[in-house]
Amino acid sequence: MTEIHLKFLPEFDEPLIYGRKTATSRTKRHGKKGDTFEHRFYYPNGCPVRGCTGDDGDGHDHIFELITDPVRVHLGLILDNLWDIEGCADRDEAWANWRRIYDKRAWAGHEQVWLHRFRMVE
Ligand SMILES: [Zn+2]
Repeated sequence: MTEIHLKFLPEFDEPLIYGRKTATSRTKRHGKKGDTFEHRFYYPNGCPVRGCTGDDGDGHDHIFELITDPVRVHLGLILDNLWDIEGCADRDEAWANWRRIYDKRAWAGHEQVWLHRFRMVE
């Protein structure tokens, strides 16, 4: 088990902590099944995770684990069909987010990217 580093847009904090975002697609592969990453949340008035009291204003970390090895999949398949586990409201939002992050080229959907699936473990 290795600790990996995955950064997320701030608007994904809520989907992450409520368990609505359980996947992220990246242009590169990060880690393997069982690897973990930390994400810092700011819930000074109590965190929605059961048993978690939150933080004193400086934030606190939760740990996520990759539940499978990352898989190489067509970008369009993920954003057209798996936008919900990406924590998006619909397909259009998933595509808009992708283009916002990776705007260096015109994405058509046939490109292969790495899908990482995870769950909160702590
Ligand atoms: Zn918490």
